[in-house]
Amino acid sequence: MSVQVPGIYTIEIIYRGIHQRHLARNLARGIAYAARMAGNVALSYQRYGDDPERDGSPAKYFVVIAKGASEEVLDAEAARVEPDYVDASIVLDDSILKGVESWAWQGIQPVHLKLRPSGLLIVISKRNPDELIKFIPSRDSPYTLVVAYGERSIGDFWTFQDDGTVERVLGAIARVLPNVLSLDDVKKYLGSLDKPSERINRALEAYQSLVKLREVKPGEGLPYKYEPPHLPGWKDMMIGAAIPGLKPNQRNPYFTGGTAKHYRPVINFDKCIKCSLCWEYCPDSVFDVTPDGYFNPALAYCKGCGICAEVCPVPDTIIMVDEMEFEDGYGKFIDEYKAWKESKEAYRKWFESLLPKAQIISVRKR
Ligand code: SF4
Ligand code: SF4
Repeated sequence: MSVQVPGIYTIEIIYRGIHQRHLARNLARGIAYAARMAGNVALSYQRYGDDPERDGSPAKYFVVIAKGASEEVLDAEAARVEPDYVDASIVLDDSILKGVESWAWQGIQPVHLKLRPSGLLIVISKRNPDELIKFIPSRDSPYTLVVAYGERSIGDFWTFQDDGTVERVLGAIARVLPNVLSLDDVKKYLGSLDKPSERINRALEAYQSLVKLREVKPGEGLPYKYEPPHLPGWKDMMIGAAIPGLKPNQRNPYFTGGTAKHYRPVINFDKCIKCSLCWEYCPDSVFDVTPDGYFNPALAYCKGCGICAEVCPVPDTIIMVDEMEFEDGYGKFIDEYKAWKESKEAYRKWFESLLPKAQIISVRKR
């Protein structure tokens, strides 16, 4: 970890590409504008502009604020692919807490990998901090988990969904980082936009009542040690750099994408008629064919698009359920078919317990 540059404050915004791209951009710009209006120098920049954004993978924006440092120092800090550390990470969607897999060859990183010791992890969620800890890996230094209460914003495919998330996060920042942006700074910035009183009220509401804090001690959270995968070097390649074809039910272990999803498919094997439509339509070839002809999703490769649930001809045989209903992740996903084979009765109860939580996709499906 590099040494902290005096007077420089760095914020990372982790968002889902496509789903939250405009939201992240507007938030990053808003923080930078507010900091500039308060007399600091600040800029925002994006790390990714292509592939991870296409499939909903976690991607990153950064804001660098120089409080007392010169514009040149700020430029030097921003002139890198991503900072070595950040003072605060803002996570726009609590399901990202299950891992950041921005580039597949970096493996599944902890969401707070870049967070400086004693930094702030700010998460948009409707869950309380104690619930969220179950999804966050432990680390050997303390940090503060901050929950800015609210729905995740995922309606951002091509246009910005102005649902108050930007204001809510700005209110949370004013509450927990007053040395970076005060409430007056936030009000001044929001007052310069359209619908100023509505925006300021949203930020005030977050500031006054919707922010929860929890100090997280070293060792608290999931046991997970991040190690980038060891990729094959050029000497490991076959002659002519040929790439061997994969057999059915095989996949490249280095290129997973399981952290790209808000929702996952859960299969009711008891109702499945083995029509194979889910297997045929899945754009990521996620389904393995089982020896008895069922189709089992390899969840480490699923992007959560819901197409399998849409094409399945038997109602409520594939349901899409919020990722945060499952305390797995970080590369370890339940094997649904195996669980069903082990105990059909227990699996059926589990499936039925998930049905009420699958309403969003059920509505879309029908
Ligand atoms: S949601 Fe279904 S169709 Fe979409 S990637 Fe996952 S398994 Fe494939
Ligand atoms: S689409 Fe539905 S019914 Fe058809 S194989 Fe897949 S899970 Fe079974």
